[in-house]
Amino acid sequence: MGVRVEIADTLQQALRLLAESEPPVRLLAGGTDLLVQWRRDPPDSGTVIVLGHIPELQVIEARPEGIYIGSGATHAALRDSALLKAKVPAIVTAASGVGGRQIQSTGTIGGNIANASPAADLAPPLLIADAQVVLQSVRGERKVPLDTFYRGYREIDLREGEMIVGFLVRPLEPGGVEFFRKLGMRSAHAIAKVSVAMRLVLEGRKVCRARIALGSLAEVPLRAEEAEKWLEGRELSRETIQEIGERVRAVVRPIDDIRSTARYRRWVAGNLVRGFVESLAAGD
Ligand SMILES: Cc1cc2nc3c(=O)[nH]c(=O)nc-3n(C[C@H](O)[C@H](O)[C@H](O)COP(=O)(O)OP(=O)(O)OC[C@H]3O[C@@H](n4cnc5c(N)ncnc54)[C@H](O)[C@@H]3O)c2cc1C
Repeated sequence: MGVRVEIADTLQQALRLLAESEPPVRLLAGGTDLLVQWRRDPPDSGTVIVLGHIPELQVIEARPEGIYIGSGATHAALRDSALLKAKVPAIVTAASGVGGRQIQSTGTIGGNIANASPAADLAPPLLIADAQVVLQSVRGERKVPLDTFYRGYREIDLREGEMIVGFLVRPLEPGGVEFFRKLGMRSAHAIAKVSVAMRLVLEGRKVCRARIALGSLAEVPLRAEEAEKWLEGRELSRETIQEIGERVRAVVRPIDDIRSTARYRRWVAGNLVRGFVESLAAGD
């Protein structure tokens, strides 16, 4: 018995280890979530595959099908990426607010999503960019839209022998603008009580496309699709500003927990979305 630790240098090696190693097999990226869990409940058998030395997982680049972000990109790499700042700025804002500098330099986007927390800061900005999760195993590759990748509380569509290799996201369209805001006890080091990301594509004052995503407001990070549909085609008018907050409040399913109450979460989610639309209408 005992835990065997394998350090993978390439993606192919990691996939082979994942398929062939003594179970249970666990993937370790930055370890900022896993090591906290292991302090409470340390593993005593199986294999740990360390992913932090695999260059293919750290790539951030523009591809014909979208912007590609490797699962091993750290929050610091996201925060400092000029490409992401220009094309998916809400991801940069969110990464800049994850934990403190130490967590940002080791924690990864793949670990943030695979950990399957409804409060994961990177989930809402990925959802508004229509992110696809790119998965690989020795059997091949699969792409799954992030909004269906979440199956339920702490449950994701990750099959045996698979790992997340990256995310494909849609770059900001001309006329597009993004917003991300998280409310916690403090801006950093704190898990979100509520987080909201929005992407609106405007033609003058008319909303052509809307994406609204919410964290800590249901058992999974979720898109407010009914509110998005309602917003599309509308002008940024006083009536739109007044109504959008209520539309968002109608789709959330928050709970009471140690960080906040369901009532506060529902109220503040509507206000954050309304505030963003209001600031756009005012030309800020
Ligand atoms: C002090 C502190 C502050 C924090 N603050 C925040 C915060 O403000 N916001 C926030 O969202 N989070 C926060 N976190 C949580 C954590 O840092 C992030 O979720 C981080 O992004 C996790 O990434 P990681 O690489 O460290 O994951 P790991 O701990 O290495 O892994 C987490 C889980 O993901 C799995 N995994 C990792 N990589 C892959 C992969 N490629 N494919 C499949 N599964 C994989 C692991 O097996 C494990 O189950 C904080 C944590 C700490 C300790």
